[in-house]
Amino acid sequence: MSKMKLSVLYLGKIECQRLHLVACPEEETMIQSPMVSVLIQHPTLGTLLYDTGNTPFYNSVYGEEIRKTYPITEFISIEDALAEKGLRPSDIDGIILSHLHFDHVGGLQYFAGTKALQNVMVAAEELKNAYYCVMTGTAGAYVKSLFDLPEIRFVPIQEDISLAQDIHLFLQASHTPAVLGLRLELEQEGCIIATSDTIYTQDSYEQRIPPGGSINKTPEEFFENLDRIQAMQQEYQATLLFGHDFEQVKRLAARGFLV
Ligand SMILES: [Zn+2]
Repeated sequence: MSKMKLSVLYLGKIECQRLHLVACPEEETMIQSPMVSVLIQHPTLGTLLYDTGNTPFYNSVYGEEIRKTYPITEFISIEDALAEKGLRPSDIDGIILSHLHFDHVGGLQYFAGTKALQNVMVAAEELKNAYYCVMTGTAGAYVKSLFDLPEIRFVPIQEDISLAQDIHLFLQASHTPAVLGLRLELEQEGCIIATSDTIYTQDSYEQRIPPGGSINKTPEEFFENLDRIQAMQQEYQATLLFGHDFEQVKRLAARGFLV
């Protein structure tokens, strides 16, 4: 196995009703929801990022519905988080986007003019869906100006693929038509699987509770995907990294995984 290095970058948080992440009857219960990016320093593929967090211009760019439902209470730019690791946006060789919702693509603008913006991997079905939604008045959590950048070159991912023997991307048909999950094989830490927003939190995973609201068209897509993640977790004895789990972020910080 290669000497790949992994860091989870903390990019601030929003505060929202818990029911948006884990279905529950109490509307008043609020939850902190962190934004994270995964930094991968790989011996042959170079330096890759998985997701980029929010835009610094959230107050002017996000619509009223997003600002009301998901108010940002802390913002850390991907640029500042990379600087903590001694890196600049121009050091990044490629970006993997789990999906194109605002809180995952908001940092793309920091990569204008860099090689990373020429190598932006996203699920083909997700790319089609995002453009369809923003061009038909059904944008939801997609904000066109964040991903439709002048020089961006998307690399559409059509099926589960391996970028190297220790980096694998897999498609999940939950949350959106196609969310890219990430499976990494690390020498020390073993297998790490990042689900992104198909499973927001450990509670949701362990207690098999889908998110509330209408993000999934039917609960079945959540459960089908959860079963697959569970099977993968067992097969690879993997540690899971969930989409927006503040408790997990605190544990990662304690283990020195997080900056
Ligand atoms: Zn998200």
